Amino acid sequence: MHDLSNIPWNQFPTDAAPDDLVSKNFLFIELTKSEIATRQGIANGFPSVSELHCAVYLCRNVLQPVREKFGRYTPNSVFRSQDLERALKNMPSSWRSDSQHTMGQACDIEVLSATNMKLALWVRDNLEFDQLILECYSAEEGPNSGWVHVSVRPPGYGDNRKQVLSYVKNPQTRKFEYVQELVETP
Ligand SMILES: [Zn+2]
Repeated sequence: MHDLSNIPWNQFPTDAAPDDLVSKNFLFIELTKSEIATRQGIANGFPSVSELHCAVYLCRNVLQPVREKFGRYTPNSVFRSQDLERALKNMPSSWRSDSQHTMGQACDIEVLSATNMKLALWVRDNLEFDQLILECYSAEEGPNSGWVHVSVRPPGYGDNRKQVLSYVKNPQTRKFEYVQELVETP
């Protein structure tokens, strides 16, 4: 294990080892780890240096501050390759995902010490982000339902829009839809 946490994000090496430290509490492997990719034998490495650098920036500016505030947790998902996106969303090989996960700019997180609503509120009020989405959070299903999606663009990768959304079930149609701000389904 090497501590690479002091190397600038835009100089982070492409040949880092899985157990090298990207930030104080996160290993390089945690930026690409996916249970589904492992189980289905899908490659989920960074395709180029820009995805790698974006993920290192995200790790240091989102994952690590959340760890310091809420304690130990494992991110559900950070980088996702096009192949992994197609497998997750059951799409044909001609389809291309435009998710920020494929750019190394997004993570899905949950913490043990707070509800997803509290986590989302804290991110909104304390971190730099591009898009914050409280996903599938429903009072009916309990305080731990859903997860929090956070994306951030490093300097030189576009402006951070500070967009705050929830992806919730419409009580009338029973279908999930995006709505402004952080809300839960009744
Ligand atoms: Zn996500």
